[in-house]
Amino acid sequence: MSALVEYSVENGVAVLLLNNPPVNALSQAVRQEIKTRLIQSEADSAVSSVVIAGAGRLFSGGADIREFDAPVKEPSLPDLIDRIEQCEKPVVIALHGSTLGGGFELAMGCHYRVAHQGGVVGLPEVHLGIIPGAGGTQRLPRLIGAEAAIDAIATGRHIPVAEAKALGAIDMVVTTDVTQAAIEVARAFKDRCNIRRTCDLRVEPSSFSDSLFEEARSLFAKCRRDFEAPPAAVSAIEWACTLPIKDGLKNERSLSTELKVSLQSKAQRHLFFSERLALKIPDIPKETVQFKIAAVGVVGAGTMGAGIAICLLSAGLDVILVDRQADLLERGLNHIQKTIRRDAERGRLSSEACEDHLSRLRGTLSLEDLRDVDLVIESVFESLSLKKAIFQELDQFCERAAVLATNTSTLDINEIAACTTRPERVLGTHFFSPANIMKLLEVVRADKTSKEVVMTIMTLGRKIGKVPVLSGVGYGFIGNRMLEDYVRESQMLLLEGATPAQVDGALEAWGMAMGPCAVMDLAGHDVTFLTRDQNRHLLPDDPLYCVPGDLMYREGRYGQKTGYGFYRYADGRTREVDGGAISLIQSAAFDLNVSQRTDISDAEIQQRCLYALVNRGAQLLEDGIALRASDIDVVWASGYGFPAYRGGPMFYGDTLGLGQIVKAFNDFAGSFGNEYGYWTPAPLLTRLANAGRTFAAFDKASGS
Ligand code: NAD
Repeated sequence: MSALVEYSVENGVAVLLLNNPPVNALSQAVRQEIKTRLIQSEADSAVSSVVIAGAGRLFSGGADIREFDAPVKEPSLPDLIDRIEQCEKPVVIALHGSTLGGGFELAMGCHYRVAHQGGVVGLPEVHLGIIPGAGGTQRLPRLIGAEAAIDAIATGRHIPVAEAKALGAIDMVVTTDVTQAAIEVARAFKDRCNIRRTCDLRVEPSSFSDSLFEEARSLFAKCRRDFEAPPAAVSAIEWACTLPIKDGLKNERSLSTELKVSLQSKAQRHLFFSERLALKIPDIPKETVQFKIAAVGVVGAGTMGAGIAICLLSAGLDVILVDRQADLLERGLNHIQKTIRRDAERGRLSSEACEDHLSRLRGTLSLEDLRDVDLVIESVFESLSLKKAIFQELDQFCERAAVLATNTSTLDINEIAACTTRPERVLGTHFFSPANIMKLLEVVRADKTSKEVVMTIMTLGRKIGKVPVLSGVGYGFIGNRMLEDYVRESQMLLLEGATPAQVDGALEAWGMAMGPCAVMDLAGHDVTFLTRDQNRHLLPDDPLYCVPGDLMYREGRYGQKTGYGFYRYADGRTREVDGGAISLIQSAAFDLNVSQRTDISDAEIQQRCLYALVNRGAQLLEDGIALRASDIDVVWASGYGFPAYRGGPMFYGDTLGLGQIVKAFNDFAGSFGNEYGYWTPAPLLTRLANAGRTFAAFDKASGS
């Protein structure tokens, strides 16, 4: 086995090369090796300076998150960094690729930082519900000032090396071999008196005002509502400005330890691991052959088709966009070009990259032009007969090896696959709107889809910046099937007397990014009604089922797009309470003999909607539509605005205790009746609750 830290001495410079693939995580063994080698180089009179560098594609992804729950083993990262900082010989660090979290904290403890131009640095700990705990909140403000440190740490963003240099976090940027450059710097570092230790610096007083920290905390309370880590990071940065470094480091460490054991951090780490786990499909070996996807046909230049094309172009693929109508094709192409150009104008894309993206886009009115593509993503109107006709044509025109995917939200992909002569190459790719922005991608495996095709598309999903999750075929797949129950209950509450603002307010206060009534107004009651209507045979035969939504559709109140729905939108976007919608629902309730109540509490709204969500998740798990409870959590956190700090619906169910949900179901059945089985817990939920088990334990036991 090769050493985790390779050691060599060249012309008086000791080089410590981290070699812990895949991301040079700073595990206990790596920390120990660094410390040992540092001591060795200090003791070696032939060594006058030290370089720390990383092997592989990046310097370091940071701490080993798997060690978070275990007691810290010596040397801890903060202690190691202090030790490096106090080293009497100059320590130069060479950064390439990503240098994140603990990796960047380590860099800040070194005496000089050389970075390769293509890389990024950052402290993304807030995304795991914690703050940097190895001096990052104390050293970064000393290097770049308090305001810039707040921006970097409380948002957890990746900072391009050039920007980090301009801010003062990096000393030198090179385009050549960074380790060699660092060795040269180290060799030139003749004078130990020239060592600049970050801990000796003072945070530049002009970088903060008295009110900065309070303002930042209230800003994060507004935009990162209820996330504990960002305001905590601001407080830690405030200590850097007001306390000696020794005290600041001590406080940072205890706050970071406190956050590490918080439920929020557990939830966010659960999602971090779940996203990665979702890429592993138990019956598909890792070494399964994958196809090369370089050119993609997108059929349908509408809302979704255009968004999908943007994702593909951004990831370097060639795209042929097809529509049957010339004007709609033109509109789709224009939209794509405008969006990509706007990204360039806003500095998110270089002008070369912008031209490169646009050069790979082509439009056509003929499916025959897709004969050479590797993959087709169909995204025409939601009509089974139309989609079947298109798949038959594609089957005829496209290469035998081409994969054919549909973006259907509700249709049976097995039926679509069956009308081709290549069902093993047919599957669903369910994007979310706006497709160029939303992260979630449900990859829908039909009965005959081959393993190679599944893995190819899961990998493509990652490549185009999505979070892919595998789903089986079934109405609404994972996300929308669960949404159905959640929305049903929210609309039942409207009939019983809650207002849209009350329902949304309760669920948003709980943490949902947007309440269900506002979501329906955004999706459009025309779209949701037609979906419901086409699938009545799959839904409960309940005369009260989603009556308020049906009503909005019949009244032409489609939501934001018409200026009215459950709310009024005077400016097209901002919700305002609308008495008209409320009276319509009231009179429907009267006609349907539903007595309205004024005592509906926020807790009742939250429990009825969220427990219905968890229960449907359990059913999907049992039916094999979802592979794991953790996959369901990823779907809801990345596609439906479920608060990451609650870990997803199934994680939330586990934290509550599944017995509590089953008990609430029994109570609801008693209070509201159970004619349509709404309050019959899914068998899996009951089994787990009776055994005192969790969804997480179920996932583990099923080997996923
Ligand atoms: P859209 O109405 O905006 O666009 C559909 C496009 O398909 C139109 O431009 C139309 O001209 C084109 N088209 C129709 N027949 C065609 C044919 N024979 N050949 C080529 N082009 C043809 O629809 P959309 O909202 O983009 O939805 C497309 C698909 O995506 C649907 O299956 C829908 O269920 C699914 N979907 C939509 C959303 C959403 O939020 N809009 C989200 C996920 C999935």
